[in-house]
Amino acid sequence: MRPHAMIAALILLAATLSFTHAADTPPGSDKPLRVLLTIGGHGFEQKEFFGMWDSLPGITYTKAPLPQSIDMLKPGLEKQYDVIVMYDMMKSFTTEQQQAFTDLLKTGIGVVSLHHNLCSHVDWPEYRQIIGGRYFQQPETIDGKAYPKSNYLHGQHFDVKIADKDHPITKGLSDFVMDDEAYSGFYVSPDSHVLLTVDHPKCDHNVAWTTHYGNSRVFYLMFGHGPSVWQNPVYQQLLVRGIRWAAEKDATTQH
Ligand SMILES: [Zn+2]
Repeated sequence: MRPHAMIAALILLAATLSFTHAADTPPGSDKPLRVLLTIGGHGFEQKEFFGMWDSLPGITYTKAPLPQSIDMLKPGLEKQYDVIVMYDMMKSFTTEQQQAFTDLLKTGIGVVSLHHNLCSHVDWPEYRQIIGGRYFQQPETIDGKAYPKSNYLHGQHFDVKIADKDHPITKGLSDFVMDDEAYSGFYVSPDSHVLLTVDHPKCDHNVAWTTHYGNSRVFYLMFGHGPSVWQNPVYQQLLVRGIRWAAEKDATTQH
């Protein structure tokens, strides 16, 4: 090969490699994503839970226990954090706190809701729109349909199926097994986009979904009661991918 042809080939190779690198690198992976992790209102095994969080790649997090976390959830938080991960089971916000939280979601801050967070805000029906679902702590009526109380059952084994193999959170993942708590009789909004399902006699079918609220992307994952789940590599992968996906601002491009 003549020298100038060699140089041209090398330039082309370098351009190809840099393009490939850019395409394979998730957006924002050059700096850690900043997570505000809300906790409280429900017990959990703290050492194992935070042990998992300490090991998650590309993520830094700040613990935000109730009740101090409530007054953080207002516009301005999006300058300090990319994503709120909600593992708390909050009972009540004041009307002002509800407004501040929904105003915050207009900024496009990412939202990930885990496990018993589905049981939060028993007296704030709008919360089901925010996270795309609702565990009924008491009987409720939605769109004219009456729902009884939801149920839970610990220590269940699940064969989990990927419902959407093309979504960034689940792409390339195979069906997997999980040992965790089952929830049943909960509500999933017709607007929610289901990512994971189970066929289990004590658990509802749809167990993970995405939605959006305001300008925020929202990912909900039912799993997450205890160490057996947190130590499952697939769980950690779903959590990291869910945080990365929620951190993106263009909520309308992929629901
Ligand atoms: Zn639980």
